[in-house]
Amino acid sequence: MDPVTESLNEVHRRLSGLREGQVADYIPQLATADPDDFGLALVSMAGHAYRAGKADVPFSIQSVSKPFVYALALSDLGFEEVRRRVGVEPSGNPFNAISLEPDTGRPANPMINAGAIATTALVRADGPAERFHRILACLSAFAGRPLDVDEEVYASEAATGDRNRALAYLMHSAGSLRAGPEETVDTYFRQCSVRVTAGDLAVMAATLANGGRNPVTGVQVVAEPDVVRTLAVMATCGMYDGAGEWLLDVGLPAKSGVSGGLIAASPARFGVAVYSPPLDASGNPVRAVAALGEMSKRFGLHIMHGP
Ligand code: GLU
Repeated sequence: MDPVTESLNEVHRRLSGLREGQVADYIPQLATADPDDFGLALVSMAGHAYRAGKADVPFSIQSVSKPFVYALALSDLGFEEVRRRVGVEPSGNPFNAISLEPDTGRPANPMINAGAIATTALVRADGPAERFHRILACLSAFAGRPLDVDEEVYASEAATGDRNRALAYLMHSAGSLRAGPEETVDTYFRQCSVRVTAGDLAVMAATLANGGRNPVTGVQVVAEPDVVRTLAVMATCGMYDGAGEWLLDVGLPAKSGVSGGLIAASPARFGVAVYSPPLDASGNPVRAVAALGEMSKRFGLHIMHGP
């Protein structure tokens, strides 16, 4: 067995018994996730895929979609235009907080819900159908295969998403949302419901690590400067209100989501993804945080380390 798979297997073996955290239950579809499901995947810059455990179990991408849609908005509009609408400061608040600037209604950053909803509205399109089509095409290009929507997850996100609707209306009334509030949250719910596996997320993370070029398909999905900005925002804001601790302990740009997915990118080295549904108090998957902590220390991955 190659040494990378061996290391992934070892981390998987050691952390399978970790039984902390709670599976998200704000919608029934997430509550049915198996807390024992645990998959790890890593994709190198040469496009080699390494896996351990359940790297093929499908789940909804949730907030892990946020950096990719931010990268799409950056490539559509340019950084200055996007920054006028969505800030780049960590909010230090939970993902669904009402972190809006008092005067402008501008959300703090694109990794919390308010900022992600505003970012979704920035994707260039003639209407909501085309906007979602472009988002799905972009996520698919990052993954290197056609992705689809888990319609049940979408239906319950839409049925229970009043807080996200409220955020959209607040931004709309402050003039900081670029499209209609109802159509924007609907697109955002669809975006959160796109189905992926840890294997897909590792390719997506590797595409970020590789300057925007998918190392498996060779397709340049977004331009490198937009990827660098996306990774910078992930580094400071990607792990909900645990982002500061994460940057100290693990030191890699990352993004987690409530369904138990997590990506991390080691620039010019690899992308890695973990799937494990139980979440800690900050909303980050417990086994994923532990796995990346171990890997970062063992292989000296912290971005503040020299080469
Ligand atoms: N659909 C979820 C929401 O907007 C995504 C949250 C997350 O993964 O952080 O509430």
